[in-house]
Amino acid sequence: MSAIETERLDVVVIGSGLASLNFIEAYLSKKRKIHVISPDFSLDLSKSEERNNHAIKFLPTQMGKSFTKAKNYYFSNKFSIDQNCKLLGSLEFGGLSNYWGLQLDSEISEDISYLKKKTAEDIKKAFFEFLKKNKLIGKITLGKKFKYDNDYEIPYKISFLNKLKKSDYYLNKPILAFIHKKKKIKKKISLSDINEKENKLTSSVFFKRYLKNKDIKFHNCYVEKIFKNKNKINILCKDKNNYTKNFLANKVIFGSGTVATTKIIMEFLNINNEVKIKHHPRLISVFFSKEKIKSPLTFTPSLFQIKSRSKKNSFSADFRPGNKLITNSIIELNWLLYPLKFIINLVKDRLIFSNVLLDSSFSNLYIRKDNKRKIFKVYSREKPTLEILKEKQLKIFKFLLSQNKIFPIFRNFFPGVGADYHYFGTIPMECKKVKSRLSVNQECQLRNNKNIYIVDGSVIDFKKNKYPLGVIIANARRIGKKLSK
Ligand SMILES: Cc1cc2nc3c(=O)[nH]c(=O)nc-3n(C[C@H](O)[C@H](O)[C@H](O)COP(=O)(O)OP(=O)(O)OC[C@H]3O[C@@H](n4cnc5c(N)ncnc54)[C@H](O)[C@@H]3O)c2cc1C
Repeated sequence: MSAIETERLDVVVIGSGLASLNFIEAYLSKKRKIHVISPDFSLDLSKSEERNNHAIKFLPTQMGKSFTKAKNYYFSNKFSIDQNCKLLGSLEFGGLSNYWGLQLDSEISEDISYLKKKTAEDIKKAFFEFLKKNKLIGKITLGKKFKYDNDYEIPYKISFLNKLKKSDYYLNKPILAFIHKKKKIKKKISLSDINEKENKLTSSVFFKRYLKNKDIKFHNCYVEKIFKNKNKINILCKDKNNYTKNFLANKVIFGSGTVATTKIIMEFLNINNEVKIKHHPRLISVFFSKEKIKSPLTFTPSLFQIKSRSKKNSFSADFRPGNKLITNSIIELNWLLYPLKFIINLVKDRLIFSNVLLDSSFSNLYIRKDNKRKIFKVYSREKPTLEILKEKQLKIFKFLLSQNKIFPIFRNFFPGVGADYHYFGTIPMECKKVKSRLSVNQECQLRNNKNIYIVDGSVIDFKKNKYPLGVIIANARRIGKKLSK
């Protein structure tokens, strides 16, 4: 058997989601070349164990035909997803994917305030630069220094929400990840001016806009393991044909998404105990509006959130009008409803879809190495997650009812523990409370391993913020900029 060749590289990024691409874009503002390891192929899984089928039974609508990609992801990362866990989305295998949602939380300050002052300021700065660069739609002001106004109209009346001022809740409007510049300063952007395909800021759109002419070498394989080799890092990968590839890098930047990154780092540090994956448990609700709400988009994002004021055990409910993609998927999920398709489409404009999201103190996902089977188990525990979600949802229902905005009926759908697609906080940035082997410093370098950087959701512990991607992107850009110097 011939020895495996080793390719020597300088800086290598793992994964090609929005965290990695934003790191790369900031890094290449001053540097010339970078390497990326990210798989873009399908594996032959015909002989593999069908152990994770339950987890991907109902992919979210946006992920439509991504079944094979999700399976490839589980298989190659050697995950075994327990029966009581649901799809670990945001993990599609194959780089430059197109499926993530649309909202970025505009409340970015609180969740980064525990970091060093300079770190928090730099993340804020990178966030605002990112909004301006891409002309995303939304409005946010953080003191005098950070202001952004490219606001959009909500296509239905929310005047009743003014009453929230004196209640336990408050209103928050997310930033929507559509690229659009408003023409007149005073006018708000109308959603009907948006071209969903061209304006949505996905990985592939970001790549085409900023990176397609840059010197980026893609290595089409996935990372199995890393280990130290003197002052460098060995990266062992597998390609489509199961051939091993070996790279020796000066610096490795992880952007392979929280769950895959955590697994690779746990293996590297030989951590055998359980690690908690932070997330936002979610319940989907459908309310029936008294007014008709016309949405011009095929897949409308959530346009506002109602958040609870309490700091402890906070939750939010976001709202989007009924739209074609979601109503079609209701019927796909339950074929018994097929004869009612006509009626469902008729009432479509009266449907309001809501996600109740709990904060990460209710997290109920864990990962652990199973040494015997050489896999990583992802599981959840018996906890009253659904009961807590239902209790919060009922509060929102009663509130909307008291405002005479909805009819007194609703329908809940619990997609399962873990089916919220926001995974984070496994390898957090150090602070007084956090000093573990599984942590990074303020520069996002892994503890005691200065040439391993982590720029995905693993490093941030979100609490108030219910749409994590904005801060993840800002932080990745911050590190990219630092390393470019
Ligand atoms: C349906 C859906 C809706 C969502 N909606 C929202 C929303 O509205 N707002 C929000 O803030 N967030 C949302 N999220 C979450 C958001 O998508 C994630 O936070 C985001 O994708 C994280 O970006 P990332 O670059 O860190 O990781 P990812 O986007 O997961 O990218 C990881 C990359 O690493 C690659 N990879 C995986 N394993 C390996 C390996 N072993 N070796 C090499 N490469 C590997 C993958 O192929 C991919 O290219 C949503 C997610 C889903 C699935």
